[in-house]
Amino acid sequence: MFDESTLDANAVAGELEVLFAVEMTAVVGKCAHCGNEAAVGTLRAYVNAPGVVLRCSICGEVVIAWAWTPTGGRVDRSGASWLGQPSGAAPSAAAPSEA
Ligand SMILES: [Zn+2]
Repeated sequence: MFDESTLDANAVAGELEVLFAVEMTAVVGKCAHCGNEAAVGTLRAYVNAPGVVLRCSICGEVVIAWAWTPTGGRVDRSGASWLGQPSGAAPSAAAPSEA
């Protein structure tokens, strides 16, 4: 399913961080196609296209894709049932902000 030219998503960590404003490779997501739950960094990255496509390492379906346009980045994450932090409570529940 994956050939030797396939990268893992850590190869595009910088672009992910610009798009989501957070370091994304440790964020956990669920593949909407097969139910695989894994860190974003384990997705397979395809970068030889007008945009970047991240595919599930189990079923090979598209989980996240993005492209840059003249007005900014556009992300399609419809292949992920959810994305979330791997552990821990909401920051406000653990340490209320004093802002
Ligand atoms: Zn999958």
